[in-house]
Amino acid sequence: MKAGSRALRWLEDQLTHRRDVAGCLFVALVAQPVAVQLAVMGLIGYFHPGAAALFDRDVLRLVLVLNLAAVLVYAGVAVYCWRRFLSTRPRPALAYGLVTFLLVSSAAMVLLYGHLDTPFVVMLFASVVLARIWFPLRVLAPGLAVAVLMLLAAEPLVRTGVMRYAPLLSAPMFTGSQLALFWDISMQVLTISTSLFFIATVIYLFALMERRHRTLENLARLDTLTGLLNRATFMRLFEEECRKQVRTQHPVCVLMCDVDHFKQINDSYGHGAGDLVLERLGLLLKTATRFPVDVPARYGGEEFVVLLPETDLAAAQAVAGRIAEQLAAEVFVCEGRRFTVTLSIGVAQGCDGDGATTLRLADANLYAAKQAGRNRVVAA
Ligand code: GH3
Ligand code: MG
Ligand code: MG
Repeated sequence: MKAGSRALRWLEDQLTHRRDVAGCLFVALVAQPVAVQLAVMGLIGYFHPGAAALFDRDVLRLVLVLNLAAVLVYAGVAVYCWRRFLSTRPRPALAYGLVTFLLVSSAAMVLLYGHLDTPFVVMLFASVVLARIWFPLRVLAPGLAVAVLMLLAAEPLVRTGVMRYAPLLSAPMFTGSQLALFWDISMQVLTISTSLFFIATVIYLFALMERRHRTLENLARLDTLTGLLNRATFMRLFEEECRKQVRTQHPVCVLMCDVDHFKQINDSYGHGAGDLVLERLGLLLKTATRFPVDVPARYGGEEFVVLLPETDLAAAQAVAGRIAEQLAAEVFVCEGRRFTVTLSIGVAQGCDGDGATTLRLADANLYAAKQAGRNRVVAA
C-alpha cells in the first residue's frame, strides 16, 4: 500500500515536471506491448497457412513493416530515454516525432483494421490521452491534425468505393475455425488492455485533479505557517457569525491577540525562532479554545484573532486569560538559550451584527493592553 502510494506520488511528480525524456519513455513503454502484439498478429497472419485467404497480402506486408518499425521505434526511444532519464534538457524533436508517430500510426490502424468490431478507435482515444498527459497540446497538434484528416478523408473514399473498408482484411475474420480463435483472442486482449488503461488513466487524472483542487483551496483559505485560517477567510466567517448573532441574539466575542516585543525575538534569536513561536501560538489557540467551534485565525504578522460564538464577555475574558497564561508558561529554546513570550489581548463582544465595529473595539482594547504594559487582557 505504502509502495503503491509512493509510486503514485512519484508518477505525479514526473507528470508535474513534464520532462521530455520521461514523457517519451512512458509513451514508448505503454505503446510497446500493443505494437508487439500487432506485430505478432501480422506475422501470424503472414506465415499461417490458413491466413492467406483472410488477409490482403500486399496490404499485410505494408502493415507488418509498419508494426515492426513501431516495435523498433518504441524500443529505441525507451532505451535512449532510460539512459538519460534524469535529464531535464528539452528534446522537442524526439517528443514531436514520437507523439506524431503514435497518433498517425493509431489512426492508420483504425483505417486498416476497420473501426467496427475492433478496439482501434478506443486505442486511438487512449493514445491521445496518453500523449496529452505527458505533453502540451502543441506537441500533439501535428499528429492529431494528420490523424483527423486521415479519418475524414477515408470516409468519402470508402463510400465512393475508391478504398475498401478495412483494406487489410480480405474477408471477415470472425468466421472459420482456427484463425477465428486467434483473431478473437487478439481482439479481446487489445480491447480489455486498452479499455483498462483508458479507465485507469481517467480515474487517476480525476483523483489528481481533485487533490490539486483541494491543495489550492487550502492555500487560498489557510495561513501556510500556522495552518490556521487566513485573514480573508476569517473575515467571511466573522461577518456570517455577526449576521447570525442579530437573528439569535446570542452573544459572540472576538479576541485580538498580539505577541509582545516580537521584533526583539526575531532580532535576538533569528527569524526561524520567531516563526517557531508563531507556529506554537497557532497550535495553542486551537488547544486552549473549543476549536473548531471557536475559530482562531492569523490576522497578519504576529497578530491573531479568535472568534468565540455563543460566548459572553466574561467567558471570553477567561479564555483570553488562559491563552495568555499558557503562552507565558511555555519555555522556548533556541541554540541553548531559553526565552519566554507574552501576549497582549483585546476582547470585544459583538453588537447588532456590526463586525467592523466589534473588531475596532477589540483592536482598541489590544492597544490599551499594550499601553498598560503588555502581557495582559483588556475587555470592554
Ligand atoms: P509590540 O509588543 O508593540 O507588539 O512590539 P512588536 O515587536 O511585537 O511589534 P512590531 O509591529 O514592532 O513588530 C512585529 C514584527 O513581527 C515585525 C515583523 O518582522 C515580525 N513578523 C511579522 N510576520 C512574521 C513572520 O511570519 N515570521 C517572523 N519570524 N516574524 C514576523
Ligand atoms: Mg503587531
Ligand atoms: Mg507585537
